Amino acid sequence: MTLPATKYAIIGAGIHGLSTAYHLAQNLKASGKGSGADILVIDKTSIGGGASGIACGVVRNNYYQPAMRELMAHSVEVWESDPKAYSYHPVGYMQISPEVMHADVATIYEQQQAIGYESNFIEGAVDCQKYMLGLFDDWQAKGITSVLHEKRGGYANNTASLYGLAGKAEAEGVRILTGVEVTGFEYGSNSGAVTGVITNQGVSACETVVVGAGPWVIKFWDMLELPKAISIKGRDGTMHNNVPMWKFWCLEEGTLGVDPNMHKTNDGKMPPVIHVDTDAPLYSDVDGSLITDQLWGLYYKPDFNFGGVQGGASPYKVEQDPDQVAIDPYGPDSPDFIVGDDFIHMWCSMLAHCQKRFEGKIGLYKYKEKSGGLGCFTPDNFPVFDTFRENVYVIADSNHGYKMIGVGKLVAQELMGEKSKLLEPFRFDRFAKGELHPTSHSPFPWS
Ligand SMILES: Cc1cc2nc3c(=O)[nH]c(=O)nc-3n(C[C@H](O)[C@H](O)[C@H](O)COP(=O)(O)OP(=O)(O)OC[C@H]3O[C@@H](n4cnc5c(N)ncnc54)[C@H](O)[C@@H]3O)c2cc1C
Repeated sequence: MTLPATKYAIIGAGIHGLSTAYHLAQNLKASGKGSGADILVIDKTSIGGGASGIACGVVRNNYYQPAMRELMAHSVEVWESDPKAYSYHPVGYMQISPEVMHADVATIYEQQQAIGYESNFIEGAVDCQKYMLGLFDDWQAKGITSVLHEKRGGYANNTASLYGLAGKAEAEGVRILTGVEVTGFEYGSNSGAVTGVITNQGVSACETVVVGAGPWVIKFWDMLELPKAISIKGRDGTMHNNVPMWKFWCLEEGTLGVDPNMHKTNDGKMPPVIHVDTDAPLYSDVDGSLITDQLWGLYYKPDFNFGGVQGGASPYKVEQDPDQVAIDPYGPDSPDFIVGDDFIHMWCSMLAHCQKRFEGKIGLYKYKEKSGGLGCFTPDNFPVFDTFRENVYVIADSNHGYKMIGVGKLVAQELMGEKSKLLEPFRFDRFAKGELHPTSHSPFPWS
């Protein structure tokens, strides 16, 4: 059996595969070098069958790493370029933090000003409480000493945005094949370059491959015979050898089945996405027992798509050997990587800690809707965007990525031969060179 030959084979119909396909089609047409008809997107399940289709959909700039911030600012521009097609809600985003994160967030604010990304920064417990009460008259989170209010960003509806992007790609002539699983690659006789994509429905000969496989990147890494363990130069110049290339974290999210309208601002508007980190003790909203006295964090937003107030908390690291982790069935279909009662109790108590309106609401949690899912992370938890085996572009976003719709636009430029300054800090050789991104005090592995 054969599949059509193609110039560009893009594996994965998630946010990165589809964004790359759409922007590449535009670039090919504009340069007179081809069109969307030169691009084949292959996905083993469906459009949005992976992490992009279950993402909470938060779009923010709040990153401690300058390179991440610049990339996010670029991505926000892409979201803003067509909010209707991308089902994007530009409600803004708030990072609400304890003293231990104050200095980190102050740096983020200063650098947002430097790149012209509009935000307010409020400092000190009294002023923070006043600012928050100005937005929500029932605000009661404790231990807060800084508030970063990003005026841009917000959230988008996961599957709707992917179908919007797929529609744009198809309108440019891109073909999207779903239900076709890639199982390996054919290589040239005189080089390591890929000459064909092997699937369960035959081989597609191709000139260039883009891998946008989300949590399945580990499988493709193996198919491409790339190293399972790598050497990393630490900040002090010491080499750390044999560091596993991939690890999994499980994201925990859920929906409180209240009317989304109950979480509006004092003036009746849709609120920004709220992200709170605090070291104040967290007590159960059910029986008053102590849940944790360590740093904890949550995020939430009213969401008509999910039908309630939707959000999540810090993920947990999957301790299993990454090669043994069952990625399939993925997301809500997984028997292992979905949220349980502990998460529900904790997250609902976190909501009640932050706003009085959520007290006593745990009974409305949407127990029947399974949620949560795996993310595959690099050794430093930041993305790798790079070319391997001469003609395989790997987009491994280390689970930062639904918001990064703009990465595909930059990858498309690189495929046309134009190097991107924004992608440069995310090359694979940064590990060996010790050019690592700075780390923050956030309890989340992606901040
Ligand atoms: C619960 C959860 C919530 C999240 N919330 C957010 C958020 O609010 N904001 C944010 O920015 N990020 C969020 N993320 C992270 C974000 O979803 C991912 O980083 C991003 O969606 C990855 O996109 P992708 O295109 O690389 O991969 P995916 O969307 O996972 O797409 C990969 C595709 O590849 C296909 N595929 C895999 N193997 C094969 C194969 N062998 N052959 C053919 N096709 C194959 C899959 O079917 C899938 O459709 C969240 C992640 C999770 C799990």
